[in-house]
Amino acid sequence: MEVLDNKCPGCGAKINFNPVNQTWDCDYCGSKFTLEEMQKYSNASSVEVNTEQIQNKTLDKFVTYHCSNCGAEIMADETTVATFCVYCGSTAILKEKIENGRAPDLIIPFKNTKEDASKAFSNVTRYKPLMPKEFRQLKNIEKISGIYIPFWAYDIVCDGNVTFSCTDTSHWSDSKYRYTKVDRYSSTIEGHFDYEKVLADASSRFKDELMDSIEPFDYQELKEYNHAYLAGFFAEKYDVSEDNAYIRAKERTMNTCVELAQGETHHQSSIINNNQFNLVKSSTNYIMLPVWMVNIKYKDKLYTFAMNGQSGKMVGDIPIGIKETIIWGLIIFIVTFLICLLVVLL
Ligand SMILES: [Zn+2]
Ligand SMILES: [Zn+2]
Repeated sequence: MEVLDNKCPGCGAKINFNPVNQTWDCDYCGSKFTLEEMQKYSNASSVEVNTEQIQNKTLDKFVTYHCSNCGAEIMADETTVATFCVYCGSTAILKEKIENGRAPDLIIPFKNTKEDASKAFSNVTRYKPLMPKEFRQLKNIEKISGIYIPFWAYDIVCDGNVTFSCTDTSHWSDSKYRYTKVDRYSSTIEGHFDYEKVLADASSRFKDELMDSIEPFDYQELKEYNHAYLAGFFAEKYDVSEDNAYIRAKERTMNTCVELAQGETHHQSSIINNNQFNLVKSSTNYIMLPVWMVNIKYKDKLYTFAMNGQSGKMVGDIPIGIKETIIWGLIIFIVTFLICLLVVLL
């Protein structure tokens, strides 16, 4: 892995990743650079380093922001400054140096911009008269942040067999009797499955339902992680360990294998008798997926809006405002009353 400086090779100013062109653009001198060009510059300016040094050097370029309100730990490169917590909006965040940790292996870079996200958010909230005013306020919309959500991705090999007790039932009748015939079988299905990148959420803070709703991500666009992709964005540090998340990934993989084997029995019904599938994890990747997110507080509750940073798919729920409901109720009442009065008078 190449460690890139988030500095413009032309003038040395801070450089940001541009999701639209997938380039690094310098606002200061107007230059644009591809990953290859950034790497060339980095190669010319750095000496040979080993893997461990690269790992340390990568993390060296990060700072974390610890939120004392909700406990979130958000990473950013040293030139991207956080002024509030993306999860709870609190400004009580402490900047800390990363002590230890693991740099991500793979990343899907952002493909849409903050403007795209703000526009999508405004579209969702348009024509909703009963929506609380907090969801219209520019200061809240401006808080939309690009954040990389951490995941563990496992390559898993499943080998073995599973035995099912199967039955086929048929019915027929003649002039005297009705017949039912039940055939019983024992069916053993052998299988070998190779799964690549079975995902498990590595963040306890980002709600699973939310992630499910903004999926899918196109994993064809996974790139080898480079620190430079983080320029201008935030990344959440994983808080679910590789081993803990694997328990869920393993369960999901096992269920899929058994289901596929069950499909091969070709009988009307089948019940698992003996499951001898054995799962082996061949490798683990730490990956980052792009999400635009804003959390808006209304009546002491946080409402999250999230947009897939790759596809643009957006989700979020909007509450009904009490004040807005009363005002609109009154307006409708007065208008109806006036119409009735006019009808009576004319
Ligand atoms: Zn420049
Ligand atoms: Zn927070």
